[in-house]
Amino acid sequence: MKLGNFDLQIVSDGTFALDGGQMFGVVPKPLWERKAPADERNRIQLSLTCLLIRAGRLNILVETGIGDKFDAKFRDIYDVRHPPTLLASLESVGVKPEDVHIVINTHLHFDHCGWNTRRLGGKTVPTFPRARYLIQRGEWESALDPSERERASYIEEFFRPAEAQADFLHGDTEVAPGVRVEVVPGHTRHLQCVRIESEDECAYFISDTVPMAAHLAYPWIMSFDLYPMETLASKKRLLPELARQQAIVIFPHEMRAPWLRLVEREGKITGVPVT
Ligand SMILES: [Zn+2]
Repeated sequence: MKLGNFDLQIVSDGTFALDGGQMFGVVPKPLWERKAPADERNRIQLSLTCLLIRAGRLNILVETGIGDKFDAKFRDIYDVRHPPTLLASLESVGVKPEDVHIVINTHLHFDHCGWNTRRLGGKTVPTFPRARYLIQRGEWESALDPSERERASYIEEFFRPAEAQADFLHGDTEVAPGVRVEVVPGHTRHLQCVRIESEDECAYFISDTVPMAAHLAYPWIMSFDLYPMETLASKKRLLPELARQQAIVIFPHEMRAPWLRLVEREGKITGVPVT
């Protein structure tokens, strides 16, 4: 998709699954089940959506999926399904790992930074040898010292071996002309979203603030969120503003359309297909 001077491309790392109850927090199952049917282990399927932003010769990759550094037990628990892998998706649009200049991780949960690194000859190395990895300093610190409540979400091998290529950010930052990261607390304290603006058009990678389109409704907040009331405040601030701009919102885990245009209709914010 063209957005002003940018070319935006969805690149996928396949799908995985999480417990449906955890995905929808206080929303009862009879309601969420209509949006996302559960399997016999109460899991729902989630996409692993990443975004490639191309501006001239600059390639910016937002998120790196779940990767492949896991064993059979992990694959079974999370029902990881490849293909495609992120690397194959990138290749299909003509981008090799060495062509990626910037990687943005919205946060470091294992389903967002999996391909930051890969195993090669018995070692774990950065997947994108020439890239700078842009990560909030606070998120990095949480990931290295997680509380008991979030420990299962962070896997050091997925991100730490690329530390030498990391640029740590402190809050909102312009990454390239027209591309900004903005800290949106809630899911984690330092989660960052990505705003892309060009020629009066806006696209917004909203990360786990709104993981699927169903979470556009204010009370639909994951039980994974460390600060759910801050997620709520962030949504109430951000979504009306994005709807006023008719921004294109990219969801990290939506199985149907990966992006929708936000509009306000009769006081309610909804997504409509991007035409
Ligand atoms: Zn996620």
